[in-house]
Amino acid sequence: MMMLDWTRRAACLDLDPELFFPISAEGPGRSQVEQAKHVCARCPVREACLAYALDTRQAYGVWGGTDPDQRRDLALAAAHHA
Ligand code: SF4
Repeated sequence: MMMLDWTRRAACLDLDPELFFPISAEGPGRSQVEQAKHVCARCPVREACLAYALDTRQAYGVWGGTDPDQRRDLALAAAHHA
């Protein structure tokens, strides 16, 4: 896979992917998602990451500080304003 330029500066680069892609959004997965969002909050490439996730319709995991439900809402809102 092509390494996207912004991913080299990602705050999550060396972290456990399980934090960002928990098996389930319930139980332990819920606190993992919250931890992942905290990492995103101080990530220098957060905007690029979120834009990429929205462009490519990533259905799983935390991207740019958002979970899949939040991205669905953002995509819907964007569609309404188009
Ligand atoms: S915004 Fe979050 S998921 Fe995206 S690169 Fe940064 S830390 Fe990783």
